[in-house]
Amino acid sequence: MSFFDTLKQYDWEQIKDSIYAKTEQDVLHALNQTQCGLEDFKALISPAAAPFLEQMAQKSMLATQQRFGKTIQLYVPLYLSNTCSNSCVYCGFSHQNKIERVTLSEDQILKEAMAIKQMGFEHLLLVTGEHQKEAGFTYLMGAIELLRPHFAQISVEVQPMSTEEYQQLRQAGLHAVYVYQETYHQENYKNYHPAGKKANFQYRLETPDRLGKAGIHKIGLGCLIGLEDWRSDIWHTALHLSYLEKTYWQSRYSISFPRLRPNAGGFQPNMAISDRELLQVICAFRILNQEVELSLSTRESPTFRDHVFKLGITAMSAGSKTEPGGYAVHTKALEQFEVSDQRSPQEIESMLHEKKYEAVWKDWDRYM
Ligand code: SF4
Repeated sequence: MSFFDTLKQYDWEQIKDSIYAKTEQDVLHALNQTQCGLEDFKALISPAAAPFLEQMAQKSMLATQQRFGKTIQLYVPLYLSNTCSNSCVYCGFSHQNKIERVTLSEDQILKEAMAIKQMGFEHLLLVTGEHQKEAGFTYLMGAIELLRPHFAQISVEVQPMSTEEYQQLRQAGLHAVYVYQETYHQENYKNYHPAGKKANFQYRLETPDRLGKAGIHKIGLGCLIGLEDWRSDIWHTALHLSYLEKTYWQSRYSISFPRLRPNAGGFQPNMAISDRELLQVICAFRILNQEVELSLSTRESPTFRDHVFKLGITAMSAGSKTEPGGYAVHTKALEQFEVSDQRSPQEIESMLHEKKYEAVWKDWDRYM
């Protein structure tokens, strides 16, 4: 059994219709619950909930402060390689795009890591395109072993791997893995992922199952907002989270909300989401689940991030460069997508401080 078997029990169109059919009464019912279920969640992400955004934001903010205090964890991505054998139509690193390809050497990785360390970060997120030979298991294991002594936590956003490989990476010090399904619409998934290993919907969907079996401490999920009807994709993300929390209860979970950004492929979103609607989604997730970490990246504008982080978010990236070598090596490789919030980590920390929040650069030490 895996989440693939669970997903088979649901029909995309029926789920979509039931979300759009939710009424004002359903939203009020959800808002009056102490513990919401997935049916209430449909109401909270439905068009009927739009007039209740203020109430949702209040409830979400309170729940976040009760569980996490007034803290925001800061993280930064380190892009190790932009080589990729997949052809995702929405991504600048797609195999189809004629861009300079770079995979950092050990020396370059260390230079980048030290530049990041000087900014104050103790959490590091390693990112690569998906390329078995250039940036596969062996390369990643080398990078983790190289960097582990310098950072408190190392997370990755790389190609999906086997349970055994995840187990070995965990033993080398890997803390968290982020793997986004992009869309849960199985039929249309093919249109966005026409070639390469990522074209295999089931293998990607079952990656969090393999992570749970490998005992990875934290698992990050998300869909790429803008590919399909976002309300339906967000609901399926919540279904996935609920399944994983019940099945692999020892792991912690995190949700991200990437919106499609301009990139070298020039792909346009099929369905845009407004700022108000994205806030509605963030609040709905917090009302559904008081334990999950909610993260907001530099894809979002400074104005949006400054207003929204208090209302449910627990982690933010800062000072991000989305090309390999972007911090110190300057290879001029092309970035994966345009960063919207260009502020330095110190500027983000000051902004949080002004709003009486604490920036967390490191939240725990490994003791075993
Ligand atoms: S989204 Fe990931 S897998 Fe797809 S082309 Fe970009 S880097 Fe490669």
